Amino acid sequence: MPEIKVAKHAGFCFGVKKAIEIAEEVAQKNNHKTYVLGQLVHNEKVIKDLENEGIIFVENIQEIPKNAITVLRAHGEPGTTYQILEQKSIIKGKNLNDATCPLVTLVHNVATKLNNNGYEVILFGKRNHPEAIGTSYHLKGKDTFIVEHAEDSGLVLDYIKNTNYDKYALISQTTMSVYGYKKLIDDINSKLADGKFEQIPLSMKELTTKYGYVDTICNPTKQRQSGTEGIARESDIVIVIGGLNSSNSKELYAKCKEIGVEAYFIQSEEQLQKEWFINKEKIGVTAGASTPDYLINDVVEKIKEMTS
Ligand code: SF4
Repeated sequence: MPEIKVAKHAGFCFGVKKAIEIAEEVAQKNNHKTYVLGQLVHNEKVIKDLENEGIIFVENIQEIPKNAITVLRAHGEPGTTYQILEQKSIIKGKNLNDATCPLVTLVHNVATKLNNNGYEVILFGKRNHPEAIGTSYHLKGKDTFIVEHAEDSGLVLDYIKNTNYDKYALISQTTMSVYGYKKLIDDINSKLADGKFEQIPLSMKELTTKYGYVDTICNPTKQRQSGTEGIARESDIVIVIGGLNSSNSKELYAKCKEIGVEAYFIQSEEQLQKEWFINKEKIGVTAGASTPDYLINDVVEKIKEMTS
């Protein structure tokens, strides 16, 4: 029997766990009539389970009826969401339950403070990700400059060359790759003619440097990435579990590929294929922040069955 190891910190982060708890609690209290704006977690199976508990997911805010009991997910919302909900008499403390993760709120605060201190803020993130949309709201909305890939330092350098701000700052979506953020900054610094991006501490005390960056990748993401890296280095194959839309799960899969280990990105145990495990001695399993423990267990059990 091969050895199967689950990466440290695989699965739900505390922010996602809390958001699900809030939605379930609110739905139970209110006889199931609870609306959630957007996917609470990027995991199709979890969403289906929650729908079975009576939670109604809507993509468009206009689908939420007036006065409806509403939950906002962990990813953070732009201020316009709160304004529209208020017009529908959906208000915090009354019928609005805000599950925004405090670590996302921290990024919003960092963005606002940099902006207020004269920085042109560039966001390392995924343009269509709800968190990036929410953070952009605190900057220049749709006009916020977002760089999506670690390899795109050239785009940032062009942006700096073609604009004329006194100060520039980089921040990151909480779920981006630690390695990718570092690579982006190093690449920019190696070509920037009149200075270097220096780290601004989260305390935001030093706001004078012309070029600065703030480490806004959240700790649970960092721990998950390093746990996955560890397992990828010691395994013959790694199974990455995560939703198709899950940015942090895709980062874990990319990390495994970068290390060079055979890896597969799946959403549930039904996608596992027996031939993947032929002649494999060490099997690693990891999972994104939107993957519940029961899904990880199902995958492990299925692998055991296939390899016994
Ligand atoms: S990934 Fe990080 S910031 Fe996002 S919900 Fe989880 S803990 Fe919060």
